[in-house]
Amino acid sequence: MSYWIDTHCHMNEDVYRSDFDLYMQAARDNNVLRSNVICMNRADLEYTRELKKKYPNLDITFGYFPEDTEHLNDEDMNYLEAVIDEIQAVGEIGLDYYYSREDADRQKEMFIRQIEIANRHGKPIMIHSRSAAQDTFDILKKHARTKVVMHCFSESAEMMREYLKLGYYISFAGVVTFKNAKTPKENALECPIERMMIETDCPYLTPVPFRGKMNQTAYVRHTGEYIAQLKGISVEQLQQQLIRNYDEWR
Ligand SMILES: [Zn+2]
Ligand SMILES: [Zn+2]
Repeated sequence: MSYWIDTHCHMNEDVYRSDFDLYMQAARDNNVLRSNVICMNRADLEYTRELKKKYPNLDITFGYFPEDTEHLNDEDMNYLEAVIDEIQAVGEIGLDYYYSREDADRQKEMFIRQIEIANRHGKPIMIHSRSAAQDTFDILKKHARTKVVMHCFSESAEMMREYLKLGYYISFAGVVTFKNAKTPKENALECPIERMMIETDCPYLTPVPFRGKMNQTAYVRHTGEYIAQLKGISVEQLQQQLIRNYDEWR
């Protein structure tokens, strides 16, 4: 069977709450049959667990987002470790210096602690990196011992090649469909499909033809169709490979 997987979405955000069943129906209508929902805190996880009872095709990934690490303590880390068996992966974790580098040391410390938890339990990790390319790379190379996906990859082709050398997966979001997104398009063209994932990161980064509207997990289809066309392969061939990749990663 051939279908799309949205490997990274935030369908647990408030904006989807009242019409959640409709969004799940839209996903089915667009042949998006798995969605990996990112939980950034305890409340997210508790709510997403409830969603999963009704929709078992939702996977759960949990981790503390880099910009939220300021107030984290040992108890939060213990909580992550306590729920580790019920999650697909640890994420999204990483570094984000976009607004400020002031808490860079704190971000690095929490990033490394979460990688170590994943290592101890053999869990894959999902990485968020923005305006922090070199530090992210250095930490991953030194500490990561499980499978890694670089979510919403937006760095240079050189960085992508370094990550590919380490055997990591590269995940592309709706940006790749934007007319002016030269580097993401070139990266998607160069990245072997065996190392690729696709995602919405919804509610942000809505792909063409819905750019400007709120994103939703069903729209990963448009990113997938765009990449299949870009690479000159069939939708089915890309879907089959992306399913294998996701299964191998998690
Ligand atoms: Zn992210
Ligand atoms: Zn995200």
